[in-house]
Amino acid sequence: MANCIFCKIASGEIESKVAYSDSTIVAFHDVTPQAPCHILLIPRKHVAFLSDLTAEDEQIAGHIVRIGAQLAAQEGIAESGFRLVANCGPNAGQSVDHVHFHLLGGRRMTWPPG
Ligand code: 5GP
Ligand code: ZN
Repeated sequence: MANCIFCKIASGEIESKVAYSDSTIVAFHDVTPQAPCHILLIPRKHVAFLSDLTAEDEQIAGHIVRIGAQLAAQEGIAESGFRLVANCGPNAGQSVDHVHFHLLGGRRMTWPPG
């Protein structure tokens, strides 16, 4: 997708601190971290919203969740706890229209979210 920041990060056109990468997904550190650990996991394929995911994306979505948990262990936040969350649409505060999951941890978080 031509003007998508996250497509450009996935292709390497825009620099990022990559935490994990394979043929279908990329994980990179958020440029404005909201917690000591804040990593974004994205599919290489451009899908704007979670609500656009189709049956053929199921494997990628599951893969993101598994690698998110794996990264949490690597980052040392698996025991203390972490969040793997995806914002979808305006009310959730989605600001980049390319599906992404936030891996957040390393500090106590509140619930429910504001
Ligand atoms: P959203 O608000 O859409 O759920 O999350 C978008 C996230 O992308 C934000 O946490 C923001 O800091 C991050 N972000 C936006 N642009 C860039 C960028 O160019 N590089 C990196 N690493 N993160 C970005
Ligand atoms: Zn994109």
